[in-house]
Amino acid sequence: AAKSSGKMSLTTKIMIGMVTGLIFGVFANQVNLGFINDYLINGLFHMIGTAFVNGLKMLVVPLVVFSLLTGVFGISDVKLLGRVGGKAFGLYLMTTAIAIAVAITLALVVGPGVGFNMEGVDVSNVKAAEAPSVWMVFANIVPTNPVAALANGEMLQIIFYVIVVGIAGLMLGEASAPFVAACEYMNDLMMKVVEIVMAFAPIGVFCLIARVFAQQGIELFLPVASYVAVLTGALLLHLFVTLMLLLKVMSGLSPVTFIRKIRPAQIFAFSTASSNATIPVTYRCVTERMGVDNSVASFSVPFGATINMDGTAIMQGVATVFLANVYGIDLGLSGYITVIAMAVLASIGTAGVPGVGLVMLTMVLTQVGLPVEGIALILGVDRLMDMIRTAVNITGDAVVTTIVAKSEGKVDLDVYDDPTAGEVDG
Ligand code: ASP
Repeated sequence: AAKSSGKMSLTTKIMIGMVTGLIFGVFANQVNLGFINDYLINGLFHMIGTAFVNGLKMLVVPLVVFSLLTGVFGISDVKLLGRVGGKAFGLYLMTTAIAIAVAITLALVVGPGVGFNMEGVDVSNVKAAEAPSVWMVFANIVPTNPVAALANGEMLQIIFYVIVVGIAGLMLGEASAPFVAACEYMNDLMMKVVEIVMAFAPIGVFCLIARVFAQQGIELFLPVASYVAVLTGALLLHLFVTLMLLLKVMSGLSPVTFIRKIRPAQIFAFSTASSNATIPVTYRCVTERMGVDNSVASFSVPFGATINMDGTAIMQGVATVFLANVYGIDLGLSGYITVIAMAVLASIGTAGVPGVGLVMLTMVLTQVGLPVEGIALILGVDRLMDMIRTAVNITGDAVVTTIVAKSEGKVDLDVYDDPTAGEVDG
């Protein structure tokens, strides 16, 4: 909404960018003119969209490092770290398990894919991925080379290393004061850089969305309409019912306010299909708009972007049921329990980047003995599904972060209830 100054808020501008991008994309798809495709969609828009996503990714590592250092230095007792970590981890696993269990149930009731005709589907180049061993996933949280971890954006390794350094800083006491001050300054500085990049969001979002919709054809959706419908339904159910109920019951905070304040992050997640690239925006939403203290958010947001993927788990649940129906295979209760366990475990070891959900799905399918080639059926619609599920993924991160922070008394309720908190003019 327009503010008293008469200026439009950045959030409003971003939403306008999204809607006009959608309209333009659908239009370009319909008229399908060579020069629009060559010069705009695959030229200018592709360039601006890529530069914008690059700009977001550019923020992630420095922001996580300095906000987390500031977070660790800012806590009065080190036990808080362990408690916040334990609660966040538990809730992340729990929400993912609930998400996929509900999705499987819904899919079993609706039954998408029954009587599907496989003819004419090219299944030749789908390969299964190896599931990493859970033990090694945990072992490799300890980096051999912190510089390499930073350079490659290995989020769990970065979080681990930064926390160790932060604790060492606390142990040095007074001697750390100049470093603590420097980190606080760097954190403020990085938040300004976030604002600079976000100023380009309306045009960046427009270009990303226009390009996706210019390239999507209805012919991709029709054959798998039942899959798309059940999946979208399950994703929205989780977003608006399950997560909001959890928020209300576990923290007492208003879901309506939450939904309004998390919207910019959802739009970024939707446009980029990457939880990781959205970290700066999710972080900014929960801290500046909702009043979650940095000591919780600096850890919980990047942690969630890496290990918590409710939307991705939902996709795996619905896809498994869909493919089981297509191939006429009955997985039985134990099969579906395996799917739930696999999907939860796989989400821990894989980062939130575009398309990784499909890779995880190959592991799940292999595990329960469904033909991996079946993925070819849903490949064509995966980009759009990826966008929706990524928005669900980061909403889950923000909900858990807020619940954990509230339980520790680390939410500034005045900020949470202030409708204009953290809003910047575009
Ligand atoms: N793109 C998703 C994310 O970044 C992961 C996936 O489902 O492919 O959260």
